[in-house]
Amino acid sequence: MKRIYMDYAAATPVDERVARTVSVLNKKHYANPSGLHKEGQETRRVFEEARGAVAQNMGAHADEIVFTSGATEANNIAIQGVVRAARARGITRPHIIVSAIEHASVLETARMLSGEDVRVELLRVDRKGVVDVRELRKIITPETVLVSVMYANNEIGTIQPLREIAKEVRHTRKMHASLYPYFHTDAAQASNYLDTNVLRLGVDLMTLSSGKSYGPRGVGVLFVKRGVNLVALSYGGEHERGRRPGTEVVALACGFAEALVLAENIKPKEVLRIKKLRDTLAEKILKKVSGVVVNGDLAHSLPNLLSISLEGVESEALIIYLDAQGFAVSGGSACKSASGKMSHVLTAIGYTNEKNMGAIRFSLGRFTKSEDITRLVKELPAMVKVLRDARKNSDF
Ligand code: PMP
Repeated sequence: MKRIYMDYAAATPVDERVARTVSVLNKKHYANPSGLHKEGQETRRVFEEARGAVAQNMGAHADEIVFTSGATEANNIAIQGVVRAARARGITRPHIIVSAIEHASVLETARMLSGEDVRVELLRVDRKGVVDVRELRKIITPETVLVSVMYANNEIGTIQPLREIAKEVRHTRKMHASLYPYFHTDAAQASNYLDTNVLRLGVDLMTLSSGKSYGPRGVGVLFVKRGVNLVALSYGGEHERGRRPGTEVVALACGFAEALVLAENIKPKEVLRIKKLRDTLAEKILKKVSGVVVNGDLAHSLPNLLSISLEGVESEALIIYLDAQGFAVSGGSACKSASGKMSHVLTAIGYTNEKNMGAIRFSLGRFTKSEDITRLVKELPAMVKVLRDARKNSDF
């Protein structure tokens, strides 16, 4: 049976060309780029070329790019780094605002900081999962040092109004003639499909993840606009302009840079192709299966993502069933079944526990074909029926 992978939001396969680059560079440029010898200097050159390519891809300067181990580390450096630098500047009780539907790497960082005398405020979202910019206007204060709102949500795909938020943030800075607040966005899910030009978006910090962009695992990027005050979280050497110590992972950084450029080149075409597939999937499921709700808002969503709730179906059971039938999907960390916790995203858009049971995330990608959608739509109704019948019987 042919396997059908529909979990691209969790991890993308590495582009073959990129995998080759990484393999070649790992062998060829093993020297430490800090070395003064020819080998070291050669490694430095290819590494800085990668930094330049990443920068160019997002409309940034090369010195604004910090390579990290992934999006989690980039988010941690952005949030903790800004807060600590603000403290060092004499802001004793900094205020930060993060949206209620951020990834755990943002929310947990914020939660940890709230225990360290940082005032953390959650920015609510509406039923579609979009933040309310008017509410941001109300809660932003002269003590706010950072606003962090993700570009697109990893569970339901909703895209946030970054330009409007950036405008609000700039307005606040101007009003108080202050450096703060800064605006950070986690664009881990967005880079394959949306405009990631930092100038057009108006962001001060932006996170990217290679593992979601057909690049190698183990590398990410934090864009840090010139002039943004940020301190490193780990202690060590002066790498990455003192913002992230540790010997540079040259081959992975080069692989990520290549992956970003390759994705950029096909972006407009791929957005159209994948959106068509996703819309067909949504339309056919809604037609063939009763009791289905689309989570979020397809009109303002990542083109590759569909999250649905199925009445009377436990998401974990359906994921396992789909897996047995050859489909790899996830609950979008929707029902954190192992912990039995409800999804904070679905809770934030007003769902009840019962509805949460049925959240399934289909995330499509570069290798998804229309035959895959056809097969899924053909097989899904019977699977749902089996699970619903089993549930009904177990209720007696
Ligand atoms: N942010 C978002 C929006 C994500 O989807 C993910 C991955 N699930 C992360 C951050 C963490 O990424 P990484 O695995 O690269 O640390």
